[in-house]
Amino acid sequence: MTNIYNFSAGPAVLPKEVLAQAAAEMLDWHGSGMSVMEMSHRGPEFISIYRAAERDLRELLAVPDNYRVLFMQGGGLSQNAVIPMNMLGHQGPDATIDFIQTGSWSSKSIQEAGRYAKVNVAASAKADGFTHVPPQSEWQLTPDAAYLHICTNETIDGVEFNFVPTAQGETPIVADMSSHILSRPVDVSKYGVIFGGAQKNIGPAGVTVAIVRDDLIGKALPFCPSAFDWKNVAENESMYNTPPTYGIYIAGLVFQWLKKQGGVAAMEQRNMEKAALLYAALDADDFYQNRVAKEYRSRMNVPFYLRDESQNEAFLAGAKARGLLQLKGHKSVGGMRASIYNAMPIEGVQALVDYLNEFAGR
Ligand code: PMP
Repeated sequence: MTNIYNFSAGPAVLPKEVLAQAAAEMLDWHGSGMSVMEMSHRGPEFISIYRAAERDLRELLAVPDNYRVLFMQGGGLSQNAVIPMNMLGHQGPDATIDFIQTGSWSSKSIQEAGRYAKVNVAASAKADGFTHVPPQSEWQLTPDAAYLHICTNETIDGVEFNFVPTAQGETPIVADMSSHILSRPVDVSKYGVIFGGAQKNIGPAGVTVAIVRDDLIGKALPFCPSAFDWKNVAENESMYNTPPTYGIYIAGLVFQWLKKQGGVAAMEQRNMEKAALLYAALDADDFYQNRVAKEYRSRMNVPFYLRDESQNEAFLAGAKARGLLQLKGHKSVGGMRASIYNAMPIEGVQALVDYLNEFAGR
């Protein structure tokens, strides 16, 4: 069989080594006589898996001691409600949340937050079709906003922040890092909350990671479901209710794999190399087109269009025949999209580049 390369935006490719280890441990985890799926989340075996995963994630992202790492459920979208419910306890519905609108996912966050508070879109790139990040000098921030929400990598639009915003006064920055967490080093201390669904760079769908600064915990609105109240989650090592145990186990294996690869700084180097290779092929002539301003192009999600869109189906069929899978763009924007997360080897990007050149008749 030829090599298969999976360019899905998520759930997405996982490291082969991780899948092989999970397969080897499936029926009998470390002599326990059972699969991780069958273990009590309160037993010593699973607690050891959980603690190792938390410790490794903290190490990989250099999470400061005054932050809690929470393994939650509900995915990235649920956090759009969980976050306001946790952060507006003191200010209530009169509070304002500032947003920077850079694409589809921040737009969804804006829509949901409007159910809990006033929303101020401090800057938007909608008018240019989400092809850049508005520079901070243009942001119209609210002086006492409850928080500022940004999506640091827009998975559908392929737009990635290339700077860390400066917080205004005491306003914490909340960052949706779903689709590029662990792809590059991050200064966690610059953010109040970092969150993301696991199904891109972390592990299987079903786990949602939230990294929350201590002082933001314990301020939930009265109607916040107790299982989503950060205080309950933090005080119970993410086990206030039954956590997604198998997903946490796989995430833990991914963290170990990342450490073996040299951590996120090493990943960043490889991700830059992969992205440069792919964008160069797309930019070679006008056969393909990526519309994002160069300095904001995502290293993880690369949307592109064929100049002649009547060839889309032929392009996808040819890709599939070569083992290059899930390249169809998101239905809301059409075209193609190659997601090249941490687990995508450079050989996969090279195979895609070879095909791009071949299809373009270069
Ligand atoms: N934010 C971003 C940046 C995403 O890419 C996604 C999913 N693709 C979401 C939020 C929503 O995540 P979920 O489907 O896990 O709710």
